[in-house]
Parts: sequence; structure tokens; C-alpha cells
Amino acid sequence: MSKKNKLRIVPLGGLGEVGKNMTVYEYGKNILIVDTGIMFPENDMLGIDYIIPDYDYLLNKADRVVGIVITHGHEDHIGAIRHILDDIPAPIYATPLTRGLIEAKLKRNNVLSKAMLHTVEAGQSVQLGAFEVELFHVCHSIPDAVGLGITTPAGLVVHMSDFKFDHTPVDGWPTDYAKLAELSQRGVDLLLSDSTNSERPGWTPSEMVIGPAFDDVFASAPGRVIVATFASLISRMQQVADAAVRHNRKLAFVGMSMVDNAKIAREMGYLEVPEKTLVSIEQALNMDPKQVVLMCTGSQGEPSSIIGRLSAGTNRHFDLKEKDTVILSSHPIPGNEETVSRAINRMLRRGANVIYDAIAPVHVSGHASQEEQKLLLNMVKPKNFIPIHGELRMLKRHGYLAKQVGVPEENILIVENGEVVELYDGKLSKGERIPGGYVFVDGQSIGDIDHGVMREREKLARGGIFLIDLNVDKYSGRLMGEPEIITRGFLSPDEAEELLPEVRRRIMDIVNGGGLDAEKEIGSAVKSFLYNETKRRPMVFVTLSKN
Ligand SMILES: [Zn+2]
Ligand SMILES: [Zn+2]
Repeated sequence: MSKKNKLRIVPLGGLGEVGKNMTVYEYGKNILIVDTGIMFPENDMLGIDYIIPDYDYLLNKADRVVGIVITHGHEDHIGAIRHILDDIPAPIYATPLTRGLIEAKLKRNNVLSKAMLHTVEAGQSVQLGAFEVELFHVCHSIPDAVGLGITTPAGLVVHMSDFKFDHTPVDGWPTDYAKLAELSQRGVDLLLSDSTNSERPGWTPSEMVIGPAFDDVFASAPGRVIVATFASLISRMQQVADAAVRHNRKLAFVGMSMVDNAKIAREMGYLEVPEKTLVSIEQALNMDPKQVVLMCTGSQGEPSSIIGRLSAGTNRHFDLKEKDTVILSSHPIPGNEETVSRAINRMLRRGANVIYDAIAPVHVSGHASQEEQKLLLNMVKPKNFIPIHGELRMLKRHGYLAKQVGVPEENILIVENGEVVELYDGKLSKGERIPGGYVFVDGQSIGDIDHGVMREREKLARGGIFLIDLNVDKYSGRLMGEPEIITRGFLSPDEAEELLPEVRRRIMDIVNGGGLDAEKEIGSAVKSFLYNETKRRPMVFVTLSKN
């Protein structure tokens, strides 16, 4: 087959960062989207709920999108789907569980009716315009995850989203090695593959190692066991349920996303919990603590999550008790280490016992480590390679691994979001650069919060605020009464008592001295006075009304 046609690969998310995965394939007039994820904000992104990919590139091409294929049901792959659908009403293709989770998400936001959802099972394929997409099973930390074989007139691409090579996964369904070998036989022109753990040597442990670790904790816990993880870690739900059965404890899922996901997974047969093991949270709270397991979200210590609230003592429904044992069954996402550590300390202070992955194997990664990544490269034998899903250092490391196993250096391309790649005549080259940044979602507003607003929030958070309100007689120009000063996050009460009288005096001098541009003059005088006295810089605002 002649391959003298051009396939464009447009990375919109997940390259140069961990999260908000989204890749676009473009052949002629046809566009295929793979995954539409979100990313959770870093600590310094104040007030942001989450971040979605900048898909500006697609806005004037919506009618050319032949389909959106989703690899699995994690938020960093499905989270942005409702925002994308607003602008790109293309049909969605996913395996049964992934589809179920997408459906629930769209329903929660009342947009299910405008979505066209199609189920494709692992092992099946679907023709979308110029793309023939084959879905094949991969192991991960959620059931029903897939990798993609994408056949185009420009060549065969293998898109390996999140995966691991687990021989004893929770659901007993290993990665489809035969399919990978078969694709390899056909000759793979380009492999894209998950780089999350490319800095981790060796092999990611099997999900199986968690069972004994849970057994130890469940057997010795003097009271309730509270397990925290992501609501979409459905494989972990199964392991907790199995441990609950083994130790004669009742299990309650806590929190809307946890309850919803468990319900969907159970209904679809991806989560097996005996009816008599499952109880509601209300029932669980009235039982002997030694018979109870609660499963909730918040393993990242997020203040708004159940674990965040339990650690702070602000959970409305129930409190942390002295004999509780809390298991944090996940690894902090890069950047969250501090928040997680604080939550652990707070819970210990409240008398709970806390078990986390640094002290017991209560979590294993769902992502391939170096040896698995090399095995994949060796199995697929791609002509070209692009590492995806990871910060730049992880992508670079993955590129280095590919070189080690024999992919020619010139056939390995490390790119970040917005850097277009073209596959032509079996060779990769860099195309143009398009926007590939952040779109912040804050409450109902999408994209209105830009980096300017973020910088302002940062300034407010760093320095606090200093507000001066002046009332001036419109005829004489003299102050009517004392200047009113409101300050937040800047002065301690003692400092305020010492400094504010002097600030007021200086303001009155300026106004009563007939300053023509009083607001500006006051602003800069107050700023420099405050800086001299405190060596800190609040945001200073002056309002002046004439009456
Ligand atoms: Zn995932
Ligand atoms: Zn992922």
C-alpha cells in the first residue's frame, strides 16, 4: 500500500503534563479525537475547579470530526466530554463500562440527550471516515480499558493510553498481547504510549499484592476501616469489597461520585459485591464499628473531599473517631504531596490510625513501569515513536527507553501540547504550532478565567488586600469624616493598631492638601508607607466618592 499520504497528529493535552489527555488525528478532511480529559488544578491555581484542554484548533472544524473514541473511564480521559460536546457534537465510541460512566456524567449535567453514544467492545473495530479503529483490551486500574490500533491510508498507528502488563489483574483479564503481536506483524508505523511511570525502573506490581495488605489492616483494625481512593478506581472498589467479605464487614460507599460509579459498575457486571455485604452509609453509622468498611473519595487530601473534611473536622454527616483506621489507597498526584501529607497529620492528630502507600502496599500504580514500556516497544516494533501522557521529563525518559531498545533516535519525537506532528511516507516530522494551553473552569465560567485573572488571585493570596474608602465634600474637596480602611490577609490586629492611625493621617494630609489626583497619589503613598513598615505588598485599592 502506498503511504504517500499525510496523517497529522495534533496533541491537545497530556503531553508535557499529567492529565487532560486529548489527541487529535487528522487525515485529509477527516478528524478523529481520542480522549477528552480534565486536569485537577495545582496548588497555586486558586479557586479553579479543573482545567480542560484548549481545543480552539477544532472550533472551525467541528463538522469534520468523524468520532470521539474514549480509551477508559478515568477523569483525565473523559472529564471534559461535556464541554467538548458543546462545540463538537460528534458521535462517541467507548467500551460498555466507559460508556456507562460517560452516560452518568452527561446525565448529571443534563446534556445526555444531545450525545450520540456507541458501544464498541474490546476486540471489535469501527470504521470512522478514513480511520479504522480497533479497540483491544489493556490492564489498568479501571476495568474495560482499551488501546487502539488505528489504520489510516498513511499507515498503522498504535495508541497506547494508560496501561500496565498485569498477569494477575483483579478482573482476571490481562492485556491483549496477541492483538499487540498481530498489529506488530502488520507493521506499525507509529506508536504513542503512556509515559506516566517512565522514571520508575522495573515492573509495576500486580494488583494482586494489595489483597494481603488489605487483609493485614482489616484484621487488626480495632474499629471502622475507611478506605479512600478515586471514585473511578473501580478495580480498587472490587478489592475493598472482597476484603470486606473475607473479614465479615459490611461495606458502604460514601459520596455521590463513589455511590454512582459503584452502582453503574455493579449493574453492568464490572463490580461484584454480595447484596448482604452492601449497606447504606446511614446503616453503617449505626453498626458496631468493627463490622464496618466505608469507601470514599479524597485520597489526594482535597479540602472539599470527604477525607479532606474528616481531617479538618468539618464533615457534616459523620466524624472521624478515635479507633478508626484510614487507608489512603492511591499515590499523591505530582504536586499534591503536601496536601496529602497535611491531611495524614491532621487525621493522626484526631486519633485515627492512617495507612498509606509509603508504609504498606495498599496501592499499586495502574501504569506501566520501564520494563513494561520496553516490552511494549519490543512487541510492537514501531517504526516511529511519540511518548504521550507525562511531564516533559517523563516523555524524555520514555524516548530514551525507546532508543535503548532499538528505535532509531531520529524516529523518536518528543513534543508537547500544541506541537503538530506529521506522518508522511513512514516518516515523522514536526508541523506547525497551535494553541495547546489551559482552559480554566471555575464554577459556571469556562475560559473566562485567564492567566491575568490567575495572577491577580495569586497577588491577593500572597499579599492580602488593603481598601481605602474616602468620602469627600464635592464643593470644598475636603474629607467628610475619617477615611475608612478595610484590610484582609495583610495585617495582624497588633500591626493594624500601630499602623492604621498613621495611614489615616497621611491620607487626610494628601486630600486636605488639595491633591488633584488624590486617588492615585494616596494609592502610591500608602503602598510605599506600608512597604517601608512591613516589607510586604498588599493589593491597595482607593475609592473616592464626592457628596
Ligand atoms: Zn487512567
Ligand atoms: Zn490517564
